[in-house]
Amino acid sequence: TIEKSQILNWLNSCADIFAKERDYLTQLDADIGDADHGINMNRGFERVKDKITTIEDQDIGTIFKTTGMTLLSSVGGASGPLYGTFFIRAAAAGNGKQSIDLNDLCQIFSDGVDGVVARGKAQPGDKTMCDVWWTVVEALEKSKDEGQDLQQALVAMGEASEKGAAATIEMQAKKGRASYLGERSIGHQDPGATSSMMMVKALRDVVV
Ligand code: ADP
Ligand code: MG
Ligand code: MG
Repeated sequence: TIEKSQILNWLNSCADIFAKERDYLTQLDADIGDADHGINMNRGFERVKDKITTIEDQDIGTIFKTTGMTLLSSVGGASGPLYGTFFIRAAAAGNGKQSIDLNDLCQIFSDGVDGVVARGKAQPGDKTMCDVWWTVVEALEKSKDEGQDLQQALVAMGEASEKGAAATIEMQAKKGRASYLGERSIGHQDPGATSSMMMVKALRDVVV
């Protein structure tokens, strides 16, 4: 299982990664957006890092819900409400839990991306963060069906996130600011898909 302490490590690790990768994510967003994605993620997760020190003794659902509310209130633009909703919806499957298994993780990410879709209406291939989360959920489902253990599933999940992010390069954006570019959005990796991939790999790295 993944323990609550590992979930807390994951969220802290996301904050460290977004501090380190701030300029890279911002550059990706400069290519097809308004050059603020790294700044947004860095600001949001710095706030999350501060906030979770006050709720460490709560259950995983409460930790995710608080993460979502914090992102919602501290990150502007499109990604704040979308990542905020992701974590708020993800919280349901963590309610009352001090640890989660592969089944729970699958549910958490699948509910999370459903929340993003409810809000942002993205479809597969629209060149958004959802293209990573769908690929990740699919990989987790496959691992479950094949009876893989958690470690194997997390390794497969990390690889899936890289594939999902890379696949956005050839896509034409249909949602968000990048969609204003039309065909000129092709050839660039989506910033939100990239930050989602970083979060997924960070989870793998704290557990495996
Ligand atoms: P903004 O575009 O408002 O400046 P960010 O730069 O922080 O916000 O985030 C941009 C990212 O948000 C995009 O790269 C994309 O992955 C994601 N995004 C934008 N619109 C949507 C949407 N409708 N559904 C899912 N993800 C979206
Ligand atoms: Mg932007
Ligand atoms: Mg912006």
